Amino acid sequence: MSEMADRAVKAEDDIRADGYGPPGQSPRPTEVMAPDQRAELSNYGIVERYFGQAAERLDLREDIAAVLRSSYREVQVQIPVKLSDGKIHVFSGFRVQHNGARGPYKGGVRFHPEVDLDEVRALAELMTWKTAIVGIPYGGAKGGVNVDPHKLEPNELEAVARSFMDKVEKVLGPTRDIPAPDVGTNAQTMAWLMDEYGKLHGHTPACVTGKPIALEGSYGRASATGRGVVYMYREAAPQLDLTPSDTRFVVQGFGNVGSWAARIMQQLGARLVGASDASGAIRANTGLDAEELARHSAEGGRIADYEAEGVEHVGPVELLETDCEVFIPAALGGMIHKGNADRLRCRMVVEGANSPSTPVANDILADKGVVVVPDVMANAGGVVVSYFEWVQNLQHFRWDEREVNDRLGRIMRKAFREVSAKAREDGVSMRVAAYELGIERVVDAAATRGYIS
Ligand code: NAD
Repeated sequence: MSEMADRAVKAEDDIRADGYGPPGQSPRPTEVMAPDQRAELSNYGIVERYFGQAAERLDLREDIAAVLRSSYREVQVQIPVKLSDGKIHVFSGFRVQHNGARGPYKGGVRFHPEVDLDEVRALAELMTWKTAIVGIPYGGAKGGVNVDPHKLEPNELEAVARSFMDKVEKVLGPTRDIPAPDVGTNAQTMAWLMDEYGKLHGHTPACVTGKPIALEGSYGRASATGRGVVYMYREAAPQLDLTPSDTRFVVQGFGNVGSWAARIMQQLGARLVGASDASGAIRANTGLDAEELARHSAEGGRIADYEAEGVEHVGPVELLETDCEVFIPAALGGMIHKGNADRLRCRMVVEGANSPSTPVANDILADKGVVVVPDVMANAGGVVVSYFEWVQNLQHFRWDEREVNDRLGRIMRKAFREVSAKAREDGVSMRVAAYELGIERVVDAAATRGYIS
């Protein structure tokens, strides 16, 4: 490399290390997915393809499909925050409200360096179908900030969260749009968002869900998405003559959703034989202790540094190749794609993450006879318990955890029965059946309101 080119590269490194990036982008070095792991289609492309398949089967009018393909409102805001280096860093914040025919908009807020408008759009649309499929009275929304939470101090993250709320509060509120946690955000983030909203509107716990228990959060919310994933496994298992004691499972993305799914699967008697996070992956034929691994992660430990007897450190592709009955993707979108789907050695995939598999990957899995429980239904547990939290907040009343989990189970089982019955009747995959059901319900609500006619 010439001295000049060398200097240019060094200058670029300096820019990043220094904390300044191009406007609208996360300014610090980040842990992002390696290019060889990327899917052939964006998250938006994935959702659009599935929507298109279902719309065609439903013979949906073109003009109605055009309404449902686009968002009602898309907000992009500037989030300038002074970080501990004394400089102002400019992040971009997004809130997309896709469709509100069935109720107030609802959806998580993601803090991740790769967040952009297209991704948030895709996730917002997914929420519209998800809330309709499980039959809770919400529309679909999603938000995000292109920040890497792992690179910021807690006070810096708090500043990002508060600034985001200041910029988008006008389109939010308990009867308008209610955010919740997603990748990179948690109960603490929701507490900051609620507090900031309260400064402007008065104490309003129902303005966000996924809050800490101390701030009118709901029992069972933190574990809800993972628990919902396990309910789906239990419903689908008889199709494959599977019982928990003969189920080995792998969790890709041992975060909130993945670690709860793992712990609850383990409580049932299933064996965790592989897990990963952004730092790396591990396997153990004899079984990993999901509780211990969750403790390690909760204390800030990375999977790449986890050591225990029988644990083997492997690459992301080897994790996919782990022999198991159930594979649970619970990381980011597009992680099972054309280039790696045939590596999976499982009988069932329960999609904890949003859009974890591309349409081509789904075809490959179908050819291999793998049963896929799709994201739009499988990971709805979080929004269902968010709904319970909102209901409790509006009444200033609290249910105990058993009541929350029982109600969650009833809703998830009902959704599974309805979707699998439709899939059987129409001879389609559970995903196509789920999208059809969701679209029909949204069109019905929008038409009855007079929003479309
Ligand atoms: P999280 O931030 O708690 O966990 C994400 C995990 O994925 C982390 O452990 C992270 O290290 C890991 N990860 C990131 N990149 C990875 C990679 N390349 N390989 C392996 N692991 C990687 O987020 P979460 O809330 O658990 O969300 C996970 C997924 O579930 C997302 O797709 C999210 O949209 C979806 N989801 C979450 C909820 C919820 O209630 N939190 C609800 C529905 C759907």
